[in-house]
Amino acid sequence: MLFPSDAAPDLIIHGCAIVTMDDAATVIRDGAIAIRDGRIAWLGNAETAARMPAKRKLDARGQIALPGMIDAHVHTAQQLLRGRVAAIGRTRALRHPTWKNYLVPFESLLTADEVYLSARFAFANMIEVGTTCFAEAGGPFPDEIGRAAVESGLRGFIALSTIDQNAAAGGASVPAGMVMRSDEALERNVDLVTRWRDHPRVKAWLALRQILVCSPELISGISEAAHNLNTKIHTHLCEGVYEIDYAAEKFGRRPAEYLADLGVLSPHLHCAHSILLSPGDVDLYARHRPSACHCAFNNYQVGFPRLAEMWRRGIDIGLGTDGPVAWSSLDMFQVAHQARIGQQAVAGAPWAVRSAISSEEVLAVATRGGARALGLADTIGSIEQGKAADLLLCEANGLDQLPMADPLFTAACSIIGRDVRTVFVNGEMIMKDREILTMDVEALRAELTTRLPGILDRFERLVA
Ligand SMILES: [Zn+2]
Repeated sequence: MLFPSDAAPDLIIHGCAIVTMDDAATVIRDGAIAIRDGRIAWLGNAETAARMPAKRKLDARGQIALPGMIDAHVHTAQQLLRGRVAAIGRTRALRHPTWKNYLVPFESLLTADEVYLSARFAFANMIEVGTTCFAEAGGPFPDEIGRAAVESGLRGFIALSTIDQNAAAGGASVPAGMVMRSDEALERNVDLVTRWRDHPRVKAWLALRQILVCSPELISGISEAAHNLNTKIHTHLCEGVYEIDYAAEKFGRRPAEYLADLGVLSPHLHCAHSILLSPGDVDLYARHRPSACHCAFNNYQVGFPRLAEMWRRGIDIGLGTDGPVAWSSLDMFQVAHQARIGQQAVAGAPWAVRSAISSEEVLAVATRGGARALGLADTIGSIEQGKAADLLLCEANGLDQLPMADPLFTAACSIIGRDVRTVFVNGEMIMKDREILTMDVEALRAELTTRLPGILDRFERLVA
């Protein structure tokens, strides 16, 4: 017997196929996973597990166990804006870039309580589509986002929207309420990270919204704080031509070169998007090792993202949704599918390469890549003994999955968020057979119906 009776696992999940996403891409067809104290204590064959004692057993036949998806760049304070910018675009010409003209203005009018509502809605949505860990890009009232995250049962990193200057580049000014003095911005960031440093699942990162709206002094100050606090900085980098022009005009450098010169390009920096990278910029990433996040829902409308190349060069890159404004969905499985097609278009088809990156490899980016990008490679990203039990049980018996030739193929190509049935984070079951156990979704729906019209009314008046 593997476990003495006084150390029996809290739970054994058995009968499922296990797509571990470990280094060897191990798949166990008739598998079992033992969970104890929130961690994966053992995995192997269901037959062996049948002889093991356990406090509880869960029959998962007809399902695939997968590590939870990791959304490495999301805006939980923009959840209520889903579809709204596109709707505005149908009635009048949109002002670009939209983040400066619509998204930051939207965040500026939210109250603390509205951010809490938005975050609860976002986290319920994430659980339903199989995301178990998130990195918030930086929003208003981050403690409210943190409070919602704690209640949801998810793992993740919150951050404060951090802006200390209004650059003329990129159109409209950022609303004054979103701009802080540089010293205040630094202090609030450090305080946030300190306040959240002891929570087992939810912690805070530092943030810099974008080089356009952050002064060199603030960027340097935040970087120094990241080293001192041993934490990361969430930023957006190389996501628009206007940003390249801004850095060239102001600093005579490309954005990544500018940050490297400041000494800020380091493993402490997490660079969302990273689309418009020159070959030299990718060299800088490989040398200085910032992490990156590819957001396939909207990155291909900007340029030719180098996901496959960056992944193969060992850069810590994950996938992200960029929140529901990007493409409406928070489904990381669909982000992965779009990333595969996008990479084929920009890095395969031009040279008649049949597969620029396989679906199975993109699934590894979404799980292990995300874990590495978030600095959690030892904790999450694969189903392995000793790691946290952040995992999904997904439908494998539906007409959209059958017949199942290979569970890894099914996981990488057939399963999407709506096929996720049961979700565990840290060994706690937070969704069971598609019922979210940590939140009252009906109450959330009712609250949304009551409060949304007033919020959107204020938004329409602000961006008219
Ligand atoms: Zn973003």
